[in-house]
Amino acid sequence: MSSLPLIDPDNALFLDFDGTLADLAPRPELVQVEAGLVGTLRTLHRQLGGAVAIVSGRTIAELDAFLAPLQLPTAGVHGAELRDAEGRRLEVPAPDLDRLHRRLEDFAQAHPGLRLERKPMALAVHYRAAPELETLVREQVAQALGDVSGLEMLHGKMVVEVKPAGVTKGSAVELIMRSPPFAGRMPIFAGDDVTDEDGFAMVAHLGGVGVLVGQRPSAATVSVPAPADLRAWLHRSAKALDGGAAGGAGAAGEGGKAGGPSSAHAAGADTHAGTDAGTDIDAAPAAAAAAAPSGSGTNPSASTTSS
Ligand SMILES: [Mg+2]
Repeated sequence: MSSLPLIDPDNALFLDFDGTLADLAPRPELVQVEAGLVGTLRTLHRQLGGAVAIVSGRTIAELDAFLAPLQLPTAGVHGAELRDAEGRRLEVPAPDLDRLHRRLEDFAQAHPGLRLERKPMALAVHYRAAPELETLVREQVAQALGDVSGLEMLHGKMVVEVKPAGVTKGSAVELIMRSPPFAGRMPIFAGDDVTDEDGFAMVAHLGGVGVLVGQRPSAATVSVPAPADLRAWLHRSAKALDGGAAGGAGAAGEGGKAGGPSSAHAAGADTHAGTDAGTDIDAAPAAAAAAAPSGSGTNPSASTTSS
């Protein structure tokens, strides 16, 4: 059993957005950013010398809108879009998605619970409103993709995406870590989805730490139960880094966030019995957490998304 220490000034931080920084919502556009989160991210960005990046399946434009006015180094569309610490945009060549889009349009329109999303570098079919269509969506996207080269399918939570082949959250982390201010730091990657496993594997390869939000078998080395727990950890770390709010982690975590720290702490104690050490969020090795008996529907297959 290992715990999640507060963030160190020598860390580099990589954060997924949906299901990690923000609670999931019935539809992607309904996701809300908790009050105080942007301020905490700004503090961490300053205290870590700029080494805080967002790594998400969303576009950079969407992420900027959620976190405005903050603009962090960001990998969007699973790394197909990239904005480095200097604000420069590095993009892989845009794939030709028109034909694929046309092929999937009729299918999506025939099923009201589906939403076909066209991104600059990817296509996504969301089925959160019709989870029973998962298998059909997979089949239809695979069929539409056919033998098109340079593109590949990616299966996330309630979504099937088509994106440039070989681009992953792991490759994004690897690329960002090559340059200042990230280079030479110990990376921490926090994420919730199966698409984050590439990020966990990459930070492990680089000697860093993966933080899984949720419970399932994972390459992450620690886990927290829910986005509220992850945010509480960020808030406490920011306060500690920002000047030693000396009452420390415990007090810092108790800020005015609805349902946040106290429930987060309780959840941690529930899930990992006997680990309520009182300061840090308690976190178990992800594999052990996945085997733990809490009622959160352990998912034996990392490639399905019934969460
Ligand atoms: Mg996510």
